[in-house]
Amino acid sequence: MDSRAAPGGIGRRTFIAASLSGFATLALASCTWPEPSPSPLPSTAVPTTAPPTPTNGVPLPTAMRRSRWGAEPFSRGAFSFDSVGSTPQLRRALSEPVEERLVIAGEATDPDRPGTLEAARASGIRAAADIARLGTAGERVAVIGAGLAGLTAARELVDAGFEVVVLEARDRLGGRIHSTDASGFDTPVELGGVFTGDDEAVIDALHEASVDTVPFTAAVSATTAAGLGVPIPTTGPDAIAIAQEWAATQPHDVSLAAALTGSGATPLSAVPDAAGVSQADWLAHTINSGVAPSTGAITSAVSASQYDANRVDRLGDLVTGRLSDFVDALAEPLEIAVSSVVTSIAYTDRRVSLRLDSGESLTADRAVVTIPLGVLKTDTVRFSPALPLMHQRAISLLGMGVVDTVWLRFDEAFWRTDDAVAADLPDGELDGDPDSPGLVTPNVLTVVGELSPVATWIDVGLATGEPILMGLIAAAQATRLEALDDPSFQAEVLEALAPFATGPD
Ligand SMILES: Cc1cc2nc3c(=O)[nH]c(=O)nc-3n(C[C@H](O)[C@H](O)[C@H](O)COP(=O)(O)OP(=O)(O)OC[C@H]3O[C@@H](n4cnc5c(N)ncnc54)[C@H](O)[C@@H]3O)c2cc1C
Repeated sequence: MDSRAAPGGIGRRTFIAASLSGFATLALASCTWPEPSPSPLPSTAVPTTAPPTPTNGVPLPTAMRRSRWGAEPFSRGAFSFDSVGSTPQLRRALSEPVEERLVIAGEATDPDRPGTLEAARASGIRAAADIARLGTAGERVAVIGAGLAGLTAARELVDAGFEVVVLEARDRLGGRIHSTDASGFDTPVELGGVFTGDDEAVIDALHEASVDTVPFTAAVSATTAAGLGVPIPTTGPDAIAIAQEWAATQPHDVSLAAALTGSGATPLSAVPDAAGVSQADWLAHTINSGVAPSTGAITSAVSASQYDANRVDRLGDLVTGRLSDFVDALAEPLEIAVSSVVTSIAYTDRRVSLRLDSGESLTADRAVVTIPLGVLKTDTVRFSPALPLMHQRAISLLGMGVVDTVWLRFDEAFWRTDDAVAADLPDGELDGDPDSPGLVTPNVLTVVGELSPVATWIDVGLATGEPILMGLIAAAQATRLEALDDPSFQAEVLEALAPFATGPD
């Protein structure tokens, strides 16, 4: 295990095997387990070789930061989604204790709000309660993974009197929570989760850890490739609703793509209106800016019956502080070994033995496994004996989506216009414009009429007046863009901003 301090000012950690008081540790001199691939840097700063200034009116950013969650060996994606054939029961099955020794936690095990901070936290609380029910205070528990689920479980277990060590593969804490102090940005850049969700318990916990948030109500604008702002009709959501209603009457689950066809919701007219946008364009808009970023998947992979079209209504607050401060506060009293990649988990009805890529092994009475679904789907972590069939089935059937973030800072917010859009503001929230109640400056920018590589742009700087945009890149586009080097990547995402820079002739 690595005894180096984790970078990024994470603070005090206890790392070395000798410090794992009470845990049986053994250095294996002749370890033949495969080396895990090194963790690539998750993101980059502005490319050293800047692309040529785009001719489409988009200025060069002064700073850029991007994620590559799909390629990261310790996440293999952004969050789980309901692929065809998956059900909430599968998630429950995945969280069922194994031999009363192992409990799997993490966002993918939550049946209610998978893919969220809320889910990760709830799963950690649930896993700790399972261990407390099955075990006895004073027992030794290994928690694998120092993301929100793992740290929450570890804190609950320590509070319940268990002896806990957390093993984390990366050299940092937080997992899919990753706040960076990127050069060129005055404010923290969140490469993973950035919305709190609407669970008051999560929001309260963030505020307790002094993480600032601002209320966020999505005010979505749509702009054509020619730069014309157009009102968003209900064409796309209506087609999805028809498809889902039809899918609910089918004997087996089908994909959203199949349901759109099978229900007769498509094909929609491809005849453009005066603004140059057809009904088919509006459905493509809903899929590209709604389905893709909320699942990280293409419609032929998403379950029609399980797809949650209302997820955007539960974004909650926008984090303006550092989400990692919450992680650090949770971690503070814990014993955590970073750079400790678990490669094998062996269990009996009496104990759990873990092997690390360093060759060390560790024995505990029980373990909480918060390794992300995307990693469980690979064969980089071996279970011995193999997990029960229902767990294997859940791992195989549930989907892991890919969503990436790109943060861009500009000299000025060229995309902000006076064109207000309607927003469903909560009661009592004022929009600042008494002459046009209900109309607000858009904070979610989308393109209609052409397939943009960036699903949606969030004006994260709007609340504070800073010229910062965060783009969400999803599904197949995310996988494609992850393979690009920084100059090519930057050129593509700037091109995607052209509609907001040009304006109609
Ligand atoms: C781009 C993006 C945007 C998101 N946006 C939002 C949002 O706005 N709101 C929201 O609520 N949620 C959002 N999420 C989802 C949210 O971030 C996750 O649901 C949550 O952070 C998952 O926590 P977790 O503890 O389950 O998993 P993780 O945070 O992934 O923790 C698992 C830990 O296990 C470690 N690990 C993996 N393999 C091993 C191994 N072999 N040995 C030891 N350790 C290992 C990992 O390094 C990691 O630290 C977003 C996620 C992404 C990627």
